[in-house]
Amino acid sequence: AHADTKEPHYVITTDTTFAPFEFQGQNGKYVGIDMDMLSAIAKKEHFTYKLVPIAFNSGAQGVLSGQFDAIIAGMTITPERQQVYDFGTPYYKTGIIAAVSPKSGITDLNQLRGKTVALKTGTGSAQYAVSIQKKYGFKVTYFNDSNTMYNAVALGNAAAAFEDDPVMKYAIKNGVKLKIITQPANGGEYGFAVKKGQNKELLAKFNAGYAAIKKDGTYDKIVAKYLGSNE
Ligand code: GLN
Repeated sequence: AHADTKEPHYVITTDTTFAPFEFQGQNGKYVGIDMDMLSAIAKKEHFTYKLVPIAFNSGAQGVLSGQFDAIIAGMTITPERQQVYDFGTPYYKTGIIAAVSPKSGITDLNQLRGKTVALKTGTGSAQYAVSIQKKYGFKVTYFNDSNTMYNAVALGNAAAAFEDDPVMKYAIKNGVKLKIITQPANGGEYGFAVKKGQNKELLAKFNAGYAAIKKDGTYDKIVAKYLGSNE
């Protein structure tokens, strides 16, 4: 066989549920902005991949341990992460918000004093919450995925959750019974990531494919499919 005529194949991890970026559609197949974007880029850049959806923190760690070639999971580009990952072209702006149950009557972070706040392990929002924990005097408890974290708050087992603004807004619009009580903080951008210094070919293909789908309108169509054209 001519190995060099074969398309390169990669193992790429994503989160289990982080709509509208990755979530299971009606048939169980993973869809969302990240998923559709990756699929369009792979087609343009002639590579194939196996998708492995697992808890965000496990996926992020798994890239560093060499278990996965890359991660696409609404992952925020941060200076700390740039020490250990190489990121592709930033593709989506985000910020961190706090959400509560509307039934709680909580309207302000100051009302979280002495209460427990739900965080998602290994995320930028968890790190941000911990950075303001002393100031507001709350306790923290950790979850591995966003849906379980939202449920803890909706059920009253935690007073608030910290999450990425676009993801929380999408969840609320789609029936999650929570309310955002803060303006987005700690703004950042999402990026496709590989382990620093590794998988250079894949990263180059991602960036080339991303530039192409930005240019030909495919990327905007994907975003509009999940968020409507005015967002
Ligand atoms: N954007 C957040 C981060 O990178 C959360 C990502 C996620 O939960 N999938 O930490």
